Amino acid sequence: MPICVECGVPVANLYTEYSKGIIKLTHCEKCNKFADKYVEHDFVIIFIDMLLHKPQVYRHLLFNRLEYRDHGIDPNVLKLGILLILFDVYIKWFRLEKYYTVSNIPFIEQPLFLQYLYILFLCVIEFIVFQFGVRLAVFFYISDKYAIVKYNYITMALIISSFGKILIISMVIWDYDQLEFSWLINVVVLTSNIEALAVFLDMDYYKSFGIMVVGLGLKILAQMVFIEVTNSPLLMTLLSI
Ligand SMILES: [Zn+2]
Repeated sequence: MPICVECGVPVANLYTEYSKGIIKLTHCEKCNKFADKYVEHDFVIIFIDMLLHKPQVYRHLLFNRLEYRDHGIDPNVLKLGILLILFDVYIKWFRLEKYYTVSNIPFIEQPLFLQYLYILFLCVIEFIVFQFGVRLAVFFYISDKYAIVKYNYITMALIISSFGKILIISMVIWDYDQLEFSWLINVVVLTSNIEALAVFLDMDYYKSFGIMVVGLGLKILAQMVFIEVTNSPLLMTLLSI
């Protein structure tokens, strides 16, 4: 059932279609605002509101736009997730290249595809462990609040709200000095993740932040274990930059 993006109560429908292309948005009976104004908005407005961390836009995306599913990830969200992992690979590779160029150290003598595989593996493991960590934290934090928690939607909320990583690519194109502002985008991604999680689980930001800390903590732990196990000088360099 769709919900009002302003106050979160369920509504019967988001709009009534009188004829093709002519619709009337439904008013929410509780807050008297349009139940979902984003029905009529194009993607640019949605993207801007995501950047502005508006809770309404995440309610729209998670509850009203995605087709309801008991299990699994929406194919389009999955594609975005794969794209974000590949972005991570590219950014790590870019930082490595910059590091070796600046420090005048010969690049690690390993076949190129092996280097790529190492970084890809690391990024996939980071992604999986981060998702696992967040789900684990959600399980312990709020298992008494809801009878059923839709963990697949938690993953989708995290993927959708990580859209900010796309902005890092623009820095690579424009060749800003060593991605010095990439930390700022990481902050935007983190705060977007906190917002999306807080909206989906209907919780305050402190709890949402606590859940993210667990996810990120496990991710850093996984990086250290992965490097210890593979003992790869490439990855050691990568994480020490
Ligand atoms: Zn409402």
